[in-house]
Amino acid sequence: MVSVLKKLQKYLSEIEKNDKQGKKINAFLQLNPNAVEEAKKIDSKNKKGKLAGMILAVKANINVQGLNASCGSKTLENYKSTYDADVIKKIKEEDGLIIGMTNMDEFACGSSGETSAFGPTKSPVNSEMNIVAGGSSSGSAASVSAGFCDIALGSDTGSSIRIPANNCGVIGLKPTYSSVSRHGLIDLSMSLDQIGVLAKDISDTSLLFEVIKKKSKNDAISQESKKINLNEIEKTPKNLTIGILDFNSSDGRIDSLIRENIEKAAKKYNWNVQTVKLNYLDLAVETYYPLVYVEFFSGTRRFDGRKYGFKIEDVAGPEVIRRILGGSEISKAEYHGRYYYQSLKIKKLIEKEFEKIFKKFDCIISPTIPRLPHKIGEKISVEEMYSYDILTIPSNLAGNCAISIPVGKIQEIPIGMQIICDRFQEQKMLQIARAFERLNP
Ligand code: GLN
Repeated sequence: MVSVLKKLQKYLSEIEKNDKQGKKINAFLQLNPNAVEEAKKIDSKNKKGKLAGMILAVKANINVQGLNASCGSKTLENYKSTYDADVIKKIKEEDGLIIGMTNMDEFACGSSGETSAFGPTKSPVNSEMNIVAGGSSSGSAASVSAGFCDIALGSDTGSSIRIPANNCGVIGLKPTYSSVSRHGLIDLSMSLDQIGVLAKDISDTSLLFEVIKKKSKNDAISQESKKINLNEIEKTPKNLTIGILDFNSSDGRIDSLIRENIEKAAKKYNWNVQTVKLNYLDLAVETYYPLVYVEFFSGTRRFDGRKYGFKIEDVAGPEVIRRILGGSEISKAEYHGRYYYQSLKIKKLIEKEFEKIFKKFDCIISPTIPRLPHKIGEKISVEEMYSYDILTIPSNLAGNCAISIPVGKIQEIPIGMQIICDRFQEQKMLQIARAFERLNP
């Protein structure tokens, strides 16, 4: 096995060259000051864990003891984690090495990676073009794509693993809600958040997912799921019925070039491909935001400046403030039974809709995002920013698993294909994704 220390040094020199200087990717908020010591320790072990040799970057909303979980915010700029999140414990038990904490939209609020208090992250795919890395797990996706680490952890509430994976040309897995413990994740919206993986290939994605998934006594809603069989993933599945999302049901908001590319990619195997309509797709974004606003507002009440850093209202950026004000307004007693409750009802309908579809189809395929990403600093409206997530949010509302894999480029910008499967069907989903990966190595 290659020395972990040597590998670490190679990554550190690449970060030194291109993160704050050179290509100015801005993927990291903090590097692990103990990484060299930890690498030596792993190298000297006789019996090594499953992740020995893997160097990981971690989104700055996941607690890693001794490192700074700033959530890309001024509020928690100086907050040092006092414990390891469940996922981090598992990674350390298996000898994975954490290289640092990555940049992100402030408190995971965003789709572009531009709301971080520490500056935007750039997609490394073509750094001259200045395309946004995508958010909110912007630094995690960019660090994998830029060759700063092997693999990374992100979190996904409505899109935040899959969009940056799309923009940075890497793989992004959002597992089934509750399959990975959320203990130690600083939440955006606890009924939707899910920790997941950003990686260069399906094999690494599967390996890390297998390590982090598990029921935990620290997260009451976490559930045990079937073991991922890493050898099975190599087998191309036969006789699949694939549903290509009927894009007309999303108001023609999908860029036609992206649509054509995804349709072409999806038909490359001899599988039974049909179009499938997802009712209520047009309501997904409107359903998502009341839930997020209210749950986020409630979660941020502990950031009152007494225990953790600054009072959030004193230092937060406009997107975070919008959600705090919106959440406080719609959760008022006089609105009881209106916004939040209505959203829960539609969430249930979307869940049922997917259940119906997955009785007939093995998976649903769509683009990951409806249009090409913008350039850093380009002015786009709040509605435009929110509508990036139209194709990803439904899986968070229903709790399904979904993955974004790169399937080519349009005007030098990578595009991702989203594969959605039923709850706890990660094995099948990874197998399908691997089959497509083989065609687009
Ligand atoms: N763009 C969505 C939001 O801002 C999703 C973010 C996420 O998945 N964390 O809420």
